[in-house]
Parts: sequence; structure tokens; C-alpha cells
Amino acid sequence: MTNAASETRKFEAEVAQVLHLVTHSLYSHKEIFLRELISNASDACDKLRFESIAHPGLVSGDGELQIHVSWDPEARTLTVRDNGIGMSRDEVVANIGTIANSGTRRFLEAMSSEQKADARLIGQFGVGFYSAFVVADRVTVLSRRADLPAGEGVRWESDGKGEYHLAQAELPERGTSVILHLKADEDEFLKGWELRSLVRKYSDHVAFPIRLPVEKDGKPTGEWETVNDASALWTKPRGEISDEDYQSFYKSLGHDFNDALAWTHNRVEGSQSFTTLLYLPAQPPFDLMMGGRDERKGLKLYIKRVFIMDAAEELLPNYLRFVRGVVDADDLPLNVSREILQHNRQLERIRAACVKRVLDLIEKLAREEPEKFATFYKAFGNTLKEGIVEDAANRERIARLLRFASTKGEGAGQTVSLDDYIGRMAVGQDTIWYITADSYAAALGSPQLEMFKAKGIEVLLMFDRVDEWMLGSFHEYAGKKLRNVAKGELPLDEAGKKQQEEASKAAEPLLRKLKELLGDRVGEVRVSARLTDSPSCLALSDYEMAPHLARLLREAGHDMPESKPTLEINPQHPLLRRVEGESDPAKAADLANLLLDQAEIAAGAQLPDPAAFVQRLNRLIAG
Ligand code: ADP
Repeated sequence: MTNAASETRKFEAEVAQVLHLVTHSLYSHKEIFLRELISNASDACDKLRFESIAHPGLVSGDGELQIHVSWDPEARTLTVRDNGIGMSRDEVVANIGTIANSGTRRFLEAMSSEQKADARLIGQFGVGFYSAFVVADRVTVLSRRADLPAGEGVRWESDGKGEYHLAQAELPERGTSVILHLKADEDEFLKGWELRSLVRKYSDHVAFPIRLPVEKDGKPTGEWETVNDASALWTKPRGEISDEDYQSFYKSLGHDFNDALAWTHNRVEGSQSFTTLLYLPAQPPFDLMMGGRDERKGLKLYIKRVFIMDAAEELLPNYLRFVRGVVDADDLPLNVSREILQHNRQLERIRAACVKRVLDLIEKLAREEPEKFATFYKAFGNTLKEGIVEDAANRERIARLLRFASTKGEGAGQTVSLDDYIGRMAVGQDTIWYITADSYAAALGSPQLEMFKAKGIEVLLMFDRVDEWMLGSFHEYAGKKLRNVAKGELPLDEAGKKQQEEASKAAEPLLRKLKELLGDRVGEVRVSARLTDSPSCLALSDYEMAPHLARLLREAGHDMPESKPTLEINPQHPLLRRVEGESDPAKAADLANLLLDQAEIAAGAQLPDPAAFVQRLNRLIAG
């Protein structure tokens, strides 16, 4: 097929869907297509510059990489042209034709779930090229790869309605021209002043010159002028960069249309010199949680101002995947590959410096700008928690940044840091106590908290999915142990121990009775030191998984080992007195089972037999 000089092909179904969405539902901020096409042109120049290090012949004769934006009011066309790497016929087919990439699917999902008619979203998904069809009813691409002869250029054309045409073309110059045949009502993109202002607004910090024709009295003079800043922003001294510059660079870098929350820009000089410019976004991108883990973009590695690759994974650990920015290293060899990077000692140092800078920045927000910190934490707090597991070396620093709801706060939104908690510990308290559950209400209502409340001991309430996993690697902070109030035996003072022993002794017949009545459903029944008001609760061993988590995992299809729960009771409670005094074995069994049922419900466990529970309850109510 690919040998045929001229042919018509169908778009893959998902690409066709994206095109349909783009042409029919993106109304606001249409002008973003220009930024996307210029961004592609700039990437193409970056790629050529990189390849030409090993193959200088690629740029011979036309050494200055640049982007031209031109228009023709008569033909109603707008053209974005670059003299970058260009595409072969196969690449055109793969990149802008048939093959849907993972971004295509994510874009479709996001658009159908959010119903956002905002064209600015498109760049985040790696489908920016298709934004051309927001303003054009026909798009022609002329492209020639830098290493191919003039006769092997390719002409691609489509009206975005399901098919495209491919033909061979004689193209004397390398690179790519994207020609938009504008829709009837898109005249604004045929005006020089409008295009100039769009380029300045959205593409000022593209590092290659973007040139537009010089006009005199509304007519082109045949000369070109550069309209953007065309320098690498991060190479300038901080004092020469305005906040506005930083923000607009961030937007073009991250394809974000919101301002960044904060940034840190540093130059390290010494045996190894490098520059880092790292941003915290204000909002998570669409794919932070969904696809974000497979393909991480937004952190670019440059070596001496030459773009090398998107290297988010090499430059930052996964739990900081929300960071966007640029790292420019002076001393890495220009011919590095991803494989080399993964085992490079210099890069390890740069990576450690990036982590440090980001944590410094977040700490600074926590200290000096509580509102911004709250915005950050809302967006990325749960992602940051992954660092407790992933980055043992920085565990203490990360932990200091975490915030949790607490029994001393009012509502889920009022959170405390671990340092706050420690600062108000009771005299002699050496443990940071917490409980996990699957919601704030469930955590706050846990019967296991009763004794802590009675004694005035603060307990942290953790109810995010990631908490349980995080706690598996988080046992100590600032020399204090972290412990789950529902796990293990509670440490008691001498008097407490004595009391507990006596209570257990006195309750022996009751415990035996319950064990018999519950049979297989429990592992152990014992007297609780945790309860004051409730009749019963579950207690977990130190290594047992929280029941609500076990339920979630089971629901997600994981094979979870069945373990028999330990039931703790409060012998003083009237319900237990009733069990004790009940001589009808059937009624006693109902009561005993309900004690266990309610302990399981409060812990978020899965009731083994909900129908049996309902029947028991009804029998009891009916008397
Ligand atoms: P993204 O740029 O995020 O990958 P796009 O849909 O904008 O997504 O572009 C798809 C691909 O098409 C690019 O990754 C690139 O390989 C190719 N491409 C687009 N425009 C150009 C261009 N001007 N020169 C060379 N390749 C291009």
C-alpha cells in the first residue's frame, strides 16, 4: 500500500471520533490550534537539531531552524511552516493519520465525561494536530524528512471527515508545511495583527524564531520579521524574567491554560553545572490518575540548550509526576540515550537536586503561603503520599508535608500536620494514633475510638485509598511510633492492666458462651480496652489488612485470604448483659451474631451474609 504514489485511506475509528468531536464541539478558545501547530513545528526543529549532532549533513544549506506563519486572504489559507525534521510517508500515516495513540482514547473519555467545549484541552492529550480542524474544513500537509531526497516528499490532505489522501510530492526544502483552508467564518486568522498577537500570547517562549511577513499598508513587503522572544527562558538570569514570562512559558510547556501555582528556578555551578526550572501546577491534568503512570510528559531534558527528550521518569520519581519543567545539563554527553540516562551517575545527582528543589518549594508554600499550599494539597496531596513508600530517603520530609483530619478537628476539611499532632500530645504519650476507614464519617464513627475520646487522646482520621497502602511503609515519624487504634493490644498502664485482667476474668463465662454461639465466624472473642459506649468492635492483629480495604480489593476481583475476625466486647453494655441472661439458645445466637454483624459494618467489612443479618434484626425488632 505504502508504495502507491497516490491513495485514499480511512482514519482509524478513534481518530475519526476525535475529529468529529473537534469539528463539532470545540467552540471556545479556537485560536489554540495555532499554539498547537507551532508547538509541533518547534518539536520538529528540536528533533532535527538533536539528530544533526550525529549527522551534521542534515542541516547543511539551511542551518537556521525557524518557523514561518503566513496567510493568503484570497485563497483563505493559513500556513505554518517549519524547516525541522519533517516526516516520511510512513511517519505521516502513523502520526497524523491512521493510528490512534493512547492520548486519543483518553481525550475521548475526558471529553465525553466532562462535556467541555474548550479547545484548550486538546494539547494535554497529544492530539494537538487535530485542533487544526476546529478552524479549517480542509488541511493540507506537505512534508519531507530531512534525510530524504526532494522527490520523496509527501502530500497529505483531508477534510477531517473519515478519509485522507496521500500522494508523493516533489519538495525542494526539508520540513513540514501545514496549510489550513479556513472555514467561512474564521476570517480573523487571515489578519496579520491578530496572528502576531496570538503568537506573542501563546508562543512567545518557543525557543526558535517564529517569523511573519512584514506588511506595509496591508501588503506584504517580501521580508520576514521575528515576532516571538525566541530564546530559552531558563537560560536568563532570574532577575530578568517577570512572573508573566514564567507563567506564559509554563503554559506553553505544560499545554495548560491555568497559571502555575509556584515555581523554582535554579542554576547549579560547579563540577557539574545545570539549570532547573520546575513548576507546580494548580490543578491536576486529566490523566494524572488515569494514564499518567504509563506515559509521563512535561519535564524536558536539554543538554546545552539542545532538547534531548521528555525525561520525566528519569528526572523525577513517580510521586512527583505532577511537576512540569525543564532541566538543562551542561555536562551530559549530547548523544545520551534513555538507556544510558537510567544508569548515569550525573543524572542521579541532577535527579536528587530536582527532588530537593521540589520539596523545598512545597515546604516554602506550607510555611509562607497557606492558601496556595491548600490548593496544592487538594490537587496533589494523595500523589505526594506515594512518596512515603517510594522515597524512603525523603520520608521524613514528605511526612512533614502531609495533613490529616483528626478527632480534634471539626470536619474532614480541618486538617493537622504530624508536627501539630506531636505538639499537643499528652504527657507521656509516645505514639501517633490513627484510624483508617473508607470515609471521614466512617472513621470518625469507629467504635475503636471511644476509649481515646474518653481519655482525650487525639486520633488522626485517614480515609483516602492511598492511606492504607502508605501506612504499610510508615511506622515512625520524628521518633514516635505510628499506630492504628484498631490493631493489636492497647498499651495500658499498671492500673489499666489490672482492670483489664479482672474484667476478662469476670467475663470468662460470657466469652465462652459467645465463642460457642458464633462458632466458625470468629477467631477469638475478648474483652475490649477500646470501648466505652458501643457493645462490640473488631480488633485486628498488627499485620492484618483493614476490613474496608480487604472488601475493596475483593470487589476489584482480587483473591483475598479469608481470615477470621477477632471480636472485642464491652461486658458492661446492656446488650451483653442480655446475651448473658438469655436462656433461649436461638435468641442468644441472634444477639451474638448481631454483635459481630455491627462490629463488621462499623469497620467497613463485607457482611458474609447480608440476608441473614436482616432476618436476625427483624426477629429481634418483632420481639
Ligand atoms: P503531539 O505533538 O502531542 O505528539 P500531535 O497530534 O500534535 O500530538 O502530533 C502527532 C505527531 O505528528 C507528533 O508527535 C509528530 O510526530 C508528528 N508531527 C506533527 N506535526 C509535525 C511537524 N510539523 N513536523 C514533524 N512531525 C510532526
